[in-house]
Order: sequence, then structure tokens, then C-alpha cells
Amino acid sequence: MIQINKDGRANLASLTQKHLRYYKDTFFPELEDLSKNEPDLPVRALYRYLRANIDKVVIGEPSVLNDIILYVEQYYGREVKLAKETLKKKLFKYENFRDRKPSKNDPEKWGAYQLVKELKVQVCPYCNRMYTSTILTESGKTRPALDHFFDRATYPYLGVSLYNLVPSCNTCNSSLKGKTMFKLDTHLHPYMEGFGDKIKFTIKLYSGNQKNAMDFILGKPEKYNIKFKVSEEARQNKAFLKRAFNNVKVFKLTELYQTHKDYVSDIIKKSIIYNEDRINELYDLYQGTLFSSKEEIKQMIATNYLEENDLDKRALSKLTKDISEELGLGTPSFL
Ligand SMILES: [Zn+2]
Repeated sequence: MIQINKDGRANLASLTQKHLRYYKDTFFPELEDLSKNEPDLPVRALYRYLRANIDKVVIGEPSVLNDIILYVEQYYGREVKLAKETLKKKLFKYENFRDRKPSKNDPEKWGAYQLVKELKVQVCPYCNRMYTSTILTESGKTRPALDHFFDRATYPYLGVSLYNLVPSCNTCNSSLKGKTMFKLDTHLHPYMEGFGDKIKFTIKLYSGNQKNAMDFILGKPEKYNIKFKVSEEARQNKAFLKRAFNNVKVFKLTELYQTHKDYVSDIIKKSIIYNEDRINELYDLYQGTLFSSKEEIKQMIATNYLEENDLDKRALSKLTKDISEELGLGTPSFL
């Protein structure tokens, strides 16, 4: 689980302004009309509430959306059910946003494609296994799915809210999460947080005897499992752990990562070969030409990013970072 845009390379301030303008041009006139003319007075009151808070509804951060949910549930629970179809199909129609694509005449036309392109999310934040690249050509197109973190059927007024649209892979969005109810106190929201240093991948040997240890060094995958370990600091944070492990469960991360043992076996071997002395040798040979730092050498050896801020650029980056650190890639030799 990786936090989106941790290094701030996407300009969220600009994205939110484009998104709000899109909402105001597309749906707002109808919301305004209904907030004045809806014949059912309690439902009209709901529309008036949404109209008065439209900036928060459309571009509010996840915690703001959470507050709106609590308020609407308390005061307009019945009205949301009555107005469901109008909310879903007229005022906050996700399909409208989903189907808008840039074109020759309007190369930056705001819609699902432009949003994910500008967000620059390269891999699914939920699993960090699948690439979520965006291409749009005359003969074919692909982009990440946009997961409604807060379920759209239950909260139809959050159908086009920017921070309720999480770019993700189809496996996580459709096959695994499906209609599971997510809230901020039950699951991690990728715009807010990832596992970070609190939860890391670890290698768990089946048993610690000498033969198994040697087989492990040889990278034999049947001798170990890939698990998650919790940092000392996070152990006290029960609320975080509950949310994080709910994500692990829904997205089947423990099970899915066992399928990447071949990859981990390579990291085990690399950690043995590329100890501190070997890295120093490479640095002496190539500094100023191929590499400008020892960190770059380690990144090249790991064939992945190893910095927290870069984890959303490549698949399996968190697995690589955590296991390389655990095994001491680039540290004094243990053999
Ligand atoms: Zn995924």
C-alpha cells in the first residue's frame, strides 16, 4: 500500500481547480435549479446543503468528505435514498466524467484520462504490483481504473469527488474490493497514507536450522514466506494497524505476494553479492560517469526505486525496498 503523490510531483492545487471548474460547468446549474425548485421540501433541503457545500463535496480532501458523510447521514439519510437516482444520474454522474477524453480540438479536456495523466501515478497504490499507465491513441487506449473509495451506491453525492477517485488496477478495484465498504476509520486511503515505515515486508524462514538457512541463502522459495512486520512505533497505533491490515485482507496482499518469491530470491542473492566492499569498488570505478552516488548504485542493483517518495513509480518497489534493507544490500558482508 503506497501513498499517492508523496513527493508532490503532481500539482494537486491545479488539478482541484480544473475539477471544480468542470463540476460547475457541467452539473452545478441543475443542482442550483433543484435547490430552489425541488417540490419535495426535505429533499430540496438536501440539495441546498449540497449546493452550499459544493466546493467541499467536489474537491474536499478525504477527511472533509468523511465529515460530509457524517453530516448527511445524520440529517438527510432518508432524503439521500429518495433522491438517489437524481444524485447518481444527474448531479454527480460519474459516467460523464469517466467518458470525457482529450481530443485534437481539446487536448487537455478534463475527464478521467486527463486526471490520471496529470496525477502521474505509475502503479496501483493498493497493491504496488500492477502498472497503471495511461495511453490514448486512435486505435487503442488504457488508463487505471478509478476506484470510488467511499462506495458510490451508498454515497451517490460523492460520485465525482476528486479525492474519492483512486487510480488503481482492475484487480484491486473490481476483482478484490468490489462493493466492500471502505471508510477512513476502517481502511487506509491512498491519498492520505501508505504503509510507510510502519509496516514492512519481511522474509520468514520456515525453521531456523542450519540446512534451511543455507537453502534460504540459495534463494529456495519453499524455505520461506513473505510476510508483513510491524515497526515498534506502529505497535502502539492500534487504529492504524486495524486499517492497514484491513487493506492487506481485502487486497489479498499476503497471498498475492507469495507469487513474487522468484523476485525475492534474486534480492537475496544480490544482497550477498553486492556488499559494502563491492559497492565501494563500483563507485570508485564509475563515479561521475555512470553514477553520482552510492544510492544510485544500489538502485541499479535492486532494479527498482528504494526511496519512500519514489515508490509509486514502479511495481514491487516497496517489496524491493523493505527486503533489500532487511538483508542489508550494500552493507558489510554477512558471509
Ligand atoms: Zn492493485
